[in-house]
Amino acid sequence: MDKKEITIGVLALQGAVELHRPHIEACGAVFKSVKTQKDFEEIDGFILPGGESTTMLRLIKTFGLWDVLAKHFSEKPVWGICAGSILLAEKVTNPEQDSFGILPITVQRNGYGRQLDSHHAEIEGYKVSFIRAPVITEVGEGVEILAEHESQPVWVRKGNKVASTFHPELTDAYPSPMHKHFIDLVQSGL
Ligand code: GLN
Repeated sequence: MDKKEITIGVLALQGAVELHRPHIEACGAVFKSVKTQKDFEEIDGFILPGGESTTMLRLIKTFGLWDVLAKHFSEKPVWGICAGSILLAEKVTNPEQDSFGILPITVQRNGYGRQLDSHHAEIEGYKVSFIRAPVITEVGEGVEILAEHESQPVWVRKGNKVASTFHPELTDAYPSPMHKHFIDLVQSGL
């Protein structure tokens, strides 16, 4: 049977959006940058990109998108990257802030400290970047840890909700294993 063509929407309010395109296309899926209620309808899976979670929160609220995004995120596969993982988390610390709370994890913003604003690492043999990244300090029931770094979970999943505290999209070997994993998940219809 032919695989259904799927469309991945990258929330384009702020942050690293276009860099996801080659990874998504290398998986045979369609990339779409999304920022209006109408855009969200045609999407099979969402990526919440890295950026600045406080700015994204402000824009989501300013544009009145909170409720519609909360509905789509609860129904469809979603992958939050860095700031995106902060938006998905059940609880945010350092400082506390609002979040959609659809993944039972606690994240500590800027958890690697100021001295280590940014660093690279290999996850699943793939070079990724931690940029003012949060640390996942707690995982709730049913959360699967897909990868750890320095003994802390950095890539986690529960059902069709995924979070990574690192950016895989900055590396230009397409697709990253994380994009492949997410798109396979969307394709599986979970
Ligand atoms: N430090 C940012 C925040 O708290 C996240 C950084 C990133 O997405 N690369 O929102």
